[in-house]
Amino acid sequence: MNIPYRIGIGYDVHRWAEGRDLILGGVRIPHSVGLLGHSDADVLTHAIMDALLGCLALGDIGKHFPDSDEKYRGARSVLLLEHVVQLIGEHGYVPSNVDTVLVAEQPKLSPHIESIRQSLAGYLGLPIDCVSVKATTTEGLLYTGNPGGMACYAVAMVAPK
Ligand code: MG
Repeated sequence: MNIPYRIGIGYDVHRWAEGRDLILGGVRIPHSVGLLGHSDADVLTHAIMDALLGCLALGDIGKHFPDSDEKYRGARSVLLLEHVVQLIGEHGYVPSNVDTVLVAEQPKLSPHIESIRQSLAGYLGLPIDCVSVKATTTEGLLYTGNPGGMACYAVAMVAPK
């Protein structure tokens, strides 16, 4: 049976850290703290990459970009996303659309959603109406420990070229 479209899911969490930038979808968001990680800790882009890799059962970003590799220290995650899109292409597919949910109590993300979508659309090679970024809080119930953090869910679909 030929299944033309394939779907994947991604999930990631990073903790808040003093003295770090908050980068979401390659966009720097003004905030009092940033996210801790080996790379730029772009939790949104990480979840999208895992969703895209999952579409074709290609493993996860830990396999493709191990945090034990000094090459990826401080890496801009959107550039890794470009690699993932290229890899998907080598398997005969292109991203079709992505949908995401960022989960954090702070900061207020609604003023930044459009610029984040625009940024991601460029790296994904998609029109902006195929890149959905949503944000929610957990009413103070999750990811609020000390120091707390931000989580992201992503779903992606890929189509044959
Ligand atoms: Mg991550």
